[in-house]
Amino acid sequence: MNDRRDVLKQLGIGGILGLLSSGKTHAQQKKPSQIRGVVFIVSDGMSPGVLTLSQAFSQQIRKTDTCWWQLLQRQDTVKGLMDTASANSLVTDSAAASSSWGSGQRVNNGMINVTPNGTFLEPIAVTLQKRGIRTGLVSTATITHATPAGFAANVASRENEESIATQYLNRVDLLFGGGEKFFDPAKRSDKKDLWSEYRAAGYGVARNAAELAALPTGKMLGVFSEGHLPFSLDRKQDESLKKNVPELSVMAAKALGEMLNKDQRFLLQIEGARIDHAAHLNDIAGLLHDQLALDDALAVVIKMLARRDDVLVIVTSDHGNSNPGLNGMGASYQRTNQHFSRIADISASFEKIQSDLAAGKITDIAAYIQRKTGYLLDQKEAKALRASMKNEEITEWNHLLATPQGLLGQMLGNHTGVGWTGSVHTSDPTLITAFGPESSRFNGLVKNSDVHGHLLEVLA
Ligand SMILES: [Zn+2]
Repeated sequence: MNDRRDVLKQLGIGGILGLLSSGKTHAQQKKPSQIRGVVFIVSDGMSPGVLTLSQAFSQQIRKTDTCWWQLLQRQDTVKGLMDTASANSLVTDSAAASSSWGSGQRVNNGMINVTPNGTFLEPIAVTLQKRGIRTGLVSTATITHATPAGFAANVASRENEESIATQYLNRVDLLFGGGEKFFDPAKRSDKKDLWSEYRAAGYGVARNAAELAALPTGKMLGVFSEGHLPFSLDRKQDESLKKNVPELSVMAAKALGEMLNKDQRFLLQIEGARIDHAAHLNDIAGLLHDQLALDDALAVVIKMLARRDDVLVIVTSDHGNSNPGLNGMGASYQRTNQHFSRIADISASFEKIQSDLAAGKITDIAAYIQRKTGYLLDQKEAKALRASMKNEEITEWNHLLATPQGLLGQMLGNHTGVGWTGSVHTSDPTLITAFGPESSRFNGLVKNSDVHGHLLEVLA
């Protein structure tokens, strides 16, 4: 928690409201050629309810509003909702959602910029490159994951991350995230050495936080983990991760600094990816710590753009996920705040808890879970959890929650007050908040596939 407080102190986040230049309304009238760039921030899988949960959590642990909350309080920011369906489902996945932004058409879930009949659609990074505009992608997932890939790649299956890693070369100017297994010759199925290919093409390559800080100006590839970057909650408990893996705000600062450094226009996507993963796992602590990490990145962006009125910033999500919500607890809901405040005591993500339990060294599951979460499972709960871990039949009427993490999420819900609808994406519209030139385009209900046309017109 301390490192976040330090970041906030440096930023003076309490005063972030004053950082947006008051000329923002004039900025709306800028000609497209005067618009320097677009920062597109994605809280992946953020159900609308996360806005209030993260605000309450921020007030509890960092004694201030989230940046997003502060932006919503301003009269001169634009508020909208994203209509998020895909071509073949009311519920989109990240591949179809990002493709709709990246190429302007709704595609089937699982596909990236490929139509249901197999036609390849030009991703926005390619279109912008022809105009001399740079693209950057920053994510806490593998950098080849669906949301960054939707801006820059074509694959019939989102699983084909090896292909995505090769497609980025010379197409995307800046890439920061995880996924070394898709670049490393020892781990790729075709044994290609993408590190060498990127270096030969003029990219500076960084593999840890110190190397990221030292990267000179120019094209950049920063890959900081074999797969996804760790959950922020687990990162805080691990000195080696803290030292070596940069936080999203640090990657965002380096990326935006590079984009502003050159006199060239840009599109920069910054994704907090693990919010979605935590929601799939019904892990409220993992989710809220990562949502605040995204909020720290938003704070950095606001701070860096404080004296500018020529950059459009859009903050949104691609779809909801499992719709976490805080239930009123106790008689007249009087115990609600007390329950919610217990989330701050949880010290491990469900991913970490699961991997510890799977390692087979934990003999007393209930004691272990109490140590990590503060919640002591009763005998029935411990029995059901053990049975579920062994794939034995359990009584759970919501099939989406009939997994060890689904059970643990519900059991912890008795402790924290937070409940979940399932463990998968949902159809809800997502929030959009925007400021800067042309931000009024994102007012009201916006179809996800219309975002593409807006971005191309803003960067005309
Ligand atoms: Zn997801």
